[in-house]
Amino acid sequence: HNNAVTALISTLNDAQCQAVTTPAHSVLVLAGAGSGKTRVLVHRIAWQIQVMGTSMHSILAVTFTNKAAKEMRGRIEDLLQVSARAMWIGTFHGLAHRLLRSHAKQANLPDTFQVMDTSDQLRLIKRLLAGLNLDEDKWPPRQVQWYINGQKDEGIRAKHCVAGYDLYQQNQLKIYQAYEALCERSGLVDFGELLLRAHELLRDNPDVLAFYQQRFRHVLVDEFQDTNTVQYAWLRLLTQGRDDIFVVGDDDQSIYGWRGAKVENIFSFQKHYPDHQIIKLEQNYRSTGFILKAANAVVANNEGRMGKALWTASADGDPIALYAAFNEQDEAYFVVERIRSWLKDGGKHNDVAILYRSNAQSRQFEERLMTAAIPYRVYGGLRFFERAEIKNALAYLRMVTNRHDDASFERIINTPTRGIGAKTVDDIRQVARDQGISLWAAMLLCVEQGQLSARASNALASFAQLIKHLDQLAEDLELFEKVQLVVEKTGLLDFHSKEKADKGDEKVENLHELVNAARLFDFDSTLEGMENLSELDMFLAYASLEAGDMQADDFEDCVQLMTLHSAKGLEFKLVFLVGLEEGLFPSQQSLDDAGRLQEERRLCYVGITRAMQYLYVSYAESRRLYGRESYPRPSRFLREIPSECVQEVRLRAEVSRPVTAVKTYSAPLQAQGQYCLGQRVSHIKFGEGVILQTEGAGEQERVQINFKQAGIKWLMLAYAKLNAM
Ligand code: ATP
Ligand code: MG
Repeated sequence: HNNAVTALISTLNDAQCQAVTTPAHSVLVLAGAGSGKTRVLVHRIAWQIQVMGTSMHSILAVTFTNKAAKEMRGRIEDLLQVSARAMWIGTFHGLAHRLLRSHAKQANLPDTFQVMDTSDQLRLIKRLLAGLNLDEDKWPPRQVQWYINGQKDEGIRAKHCVAGYDLYQQNQLKIYQAYEALCERSGLVDFGELLLRAHELLRDNPDVLAFYQQRFRHVLVDEFQDTNTVQYAWLRLLTQGRDDIFVVGDDDQSIYGWRGAKVENIFSFQKHYPDHQIIKLEQNYRSTGFILKAANAVVANNEGRMGKALWTASADGDPIALYAAFNEQDEAYFVVERIRSWLKDGGKHNDVAILYRSNAQSRQFEERLMTAAIPYRVYGGLRFFERAEIKNALAYLRMVTNRHDDASFERIINTPTRGIGAKTVDDIRQVARDQGISLWAAMLLCVEQGQLSARASNALASFAQLIKHLDQLAEDLELFEKVQLVVEKTGLLDFHSKEKADKGDEKVENLHELVNAARLFDFDSTLEGMENLSELDMFLAYASLEAGDMQADDFEDCVQLMTLHSAKGLEFKLVFLVGLEEGLFPSQQSLDDAGRLQEERRLCYVGITRAMQYLYVSYAESRRLYGRESYPRPSRFLREIPSECVQEVRLRAEVSRPVTAVKTYSAPLQAQGQYCLGQRVSHIKFGEGVILQTEGAGEQERVQINFKQAGIKWLMLAYAKLNAM
């Protein structure tokens, strides 16, 4: 026993040890990036179990992503050398879902309620607006979605809202009400609703609340700075009376304010748990000196920080490398070249991350990595279960278990195309609205009453027949056979295989992968507490909630691509922070909003502090994004990094040789012999210049040009569109 205890704390510094072993019940660990907050939280759990004799059963641990939850479970199992199955570890959404499944009735939900993700939600809202005769131009669906989710994050239901005399507000409220009613009728629950309902479940059912208060003697929360109002209220309910709660966080890493997170919860915590102990950790174990110094300097430009010191015993390490790319392709080219040499020197794929501000930036890197045959994995973005073809298949499965799922009905009524026109669907919607029934019921009614054209009627009848048929056939099948049946019998496979070129192949592969996912689906570990659900319903719930985790190549060694937001809490030996440009990072919307700009800066702090040994930062002098070409200025965050921490990479200097020594000079730059050394050329943006030298070949060929106005530049020949003069 003593040995075990020593082992548990021997790898902690004094402050960490204090946090892990403190007898205090409510504890707030407030500390900067890489100081061991997550490590302390994991050790605290192990301490509770091993030393204090707490049962795993009575521990509830909340983290921010499914990935983090999985990692946490793994780390605890490593420390304790036993399975941590019995412990509730998960995200707020995952845990809320689990509670609602176990207590659907008390939460006023149908047993078979389905979770819909943000894109399903948007679809539903679009349809709702049409039904209310509200114009999408005046009522952009995304804004409506934003409004609804914002209300829910604050714990506000439509019935709590007061619209007053303002017509806009009245309409907004009307939409919210209609949305709630529609979700209720369809048995659909969006992400915000999961949290809100889970809170109401505890609030309104004293017996349920008492049960969980009894059960969860220790509640631990990672990334506390990013909890929103409802999440915090939920935590408070759970810990009421006992006040046993251990939270770790960093105000400088609060990056979800735009989604309702309240960094103020850190203050509320101190008020609501008066006997709390605050512990600060100040030593960073993750990064080299230069990296840490840069991160500290950048975030120092923010105001109203709680203020924390952070130091490291590590050496300065390599300076941060800055690369000014000509354009986004050049940037990707540069990054992938560096990864290539990292791998050549024996580095591992998994230790490399490319971090960007916006999902749309990933494509360039993906293409380059693909060409270079380097395995990679994209987190976030369009995840497996969010792909259109997968969602189509899932929508059929949903209809099979719940005919009244309007969101699914909308999705598949004419996919694959079966000659049911927009007009017909409109008619069905109208009937559904008038009668207050689901689309499915409305469709049956329309067919029965013969209000539609014979053609439409027939098409609808055969759709109804298809769903019923699938339901009957599926009855005695294994889960994966059901999925297979749906994929084949609905014609989705055929439909997608006929799609354009490669896209179609990929979609067909994905559909097969879905069948495979169902085959491998692990009922036991994922969904405790949902025993009363059918396998299919469990699988569907899993698909909406844990979408991000379902990637076949989970254990393969790959380069990691993700947004800065999803990099939270993670660390990598080699990090590329790309696209540091005004208007991209910081984002366009934050440029004239001081609060949002500070949040962008915190995001930059998060980004820099993901790096353990090597950090590259880059920007492009011209960028094509969202179909627009722009010539952004370098990000202000670059200027905020102390110059002694940075070294500019002159790819140009590295590869350029003294003029006389370069053989290729007299050779023409292009096969046509159009350009040669010393030749005068003109460029659309940079104007007139003289060719100095060339490097690389084929698509990779670059030329160095001395422009009259713009000075010496390297350009990719394939993209430069030069004209001989
Ligand atoms: P973030 O704010 O980014 O979430 P964090 O504060 O949660 O960071 P951890 O991820 O827990 O920090 O720790 C950062 C790194 O430092 C990890 O690799 C961890 O193993 C290591 N580390 C933390 N404390 C120690 C220690 N006392 N001795 C050795 N390594 C440590
Ligand atoms: Mg952490």
